[in-house]
Amino acid sequence: MRYTSSMISARMKNLHPYVPGEQPKDREYIKLNANENPYPPSPLVRKTVVCAAKKFAKKMGLYPDPDSNELKTAIADMLNKTGGVLCRTELKGGKKNGSGAECSPAAADKIPFAVTPDMIYCGNGSDEVLSFVFYAFFDSDRPLILPNFTYSFYPVYAGFYNVPLNQVPLKADWSLDREKMLSEANAAESSIIFANPNAPTGIGLSRDEVRTMIKAAPKDRVFVVDEAYVDFGGESCIPLLAEFTNLVIVRTFSKSLCGAGMRLGYVVSSPELVNHITTVKNSLNHFPIDFLSQQAGIAACKDAGYYAVCAKKVAEERDSFSEFLRERGWFVIPSQTNFVFVRKEGHSAEEAYRKIKQAGILVRHFSTPGIEEFLRITIGTHEQMSELKRVMESI
Ligand SMILES: *Cc1c(COP(=O)(O)O)cnc(C)c1O
Repeated sequence: MRYTSSMISARMKNLHPYVPGEQPKDREYIKLNANENPYPPSPLVRKTVVCAAKKFAKKMGLYPDPDSNELKTAIADMLNKTGGVLCRTELKGGKKNGSGAECSPAAADKIPFAVTPDMIYCGNGSDEVLSFVFYAFFDSDRPLILPNFTYSFYPVYAGFYNVPLNQVPLKADWSLDREKMLSEANAAESSIIFANPNAPTGIGLSRDEVRTMIKAAPKDRVFVVDEAYVDFGGESCIPLLAEFTNLVIVRTFSKSLCGAGMRLGYVVSSPELVNHITTVKNSLNHFPIDFLSQQAGIAACKDAGYYAVCAKKVAEERDSFSEFLRERGWFVIPSQTNFVFVRKEGHSAEEAYRKIKQAGILVRHFSTPGIEEFLRITIGTHEQMSELKRVMESI
């Protein structure tokens, strides 16, 4: 018996898998290459998981709630209490680390209606959620409009689902070319997707800018905004759900909710669109979120104050690190996220990446033409950033 390529389905040729930030095992690195949160989950999450395993061991032998209803309710509550932007959430009481604090949204972030559980879809990380969004809303008969530099998983799903792409170049200042994206979308009656704030640039559009964009985009196609990083300083588009039924917002626990290992992501949209995503889920994997992750997610939402303090610390550290680099001649794109995208004239980013790695710190370098001169550096704890500053001065 031998392997032949005729064993492989024809559709496999469309697969071009995503390459995540490296996870080397050869030594202990300070990991600033995958935009994970440097802080652990809240004490309430840790306690809840331990108690759930002890008290409800039997539940692990049973199927979990297929629709994560309690988790959806907890997410809706958290969004209403924080306005969907943790770094500006106002806190009262609680511990010094924010745990147990009462949360209320900053005036500018307040959502002018109550987010309800039927507006939420929860999945196994927002990567899975995005794949279901692609399946539910994008066809092979027209191109999907997106920036040429944005989250690099979108083109992977486009290959998987056979959706053609129209990748619109960013402007010279690295911001989205909104006019061009809209004219392309209208010419082909297409959907639009981008991350806001965008990755790997870190630049965000204001809610007003997105509103103007959705108004001018095709009304009979969904408009997808990926808010993976919005808690670190962007403006959430959740309030726009009152105006647009074609808006789909994707969010994750992996960045601002210190939960990349829990694999939780969600959509906030109109109940009608949420139902279609649920249909995709029920046609593929009825139970994408296991019992323990549901418990952990619920606890995280109930302790938003803790995550608000983490997001504020990350945002402060980001601003001070950006200042540090600018003072030393680096070009730093102003970031609203938990990473910075930076380059230095006349210096090879790849070489800098290698030297920083030799010193025990991992950052991200993309060899993609157009951004190969940049490093993407995730913001860590104060201690980690002090070490990185020391290393960057020495190279
Ligand atoms: C990290 C990231 C995701 C994926 O998040 P998971 O929930 O861990 O799958 C999605 N979109 C963007 C823009 C991201 O940066």
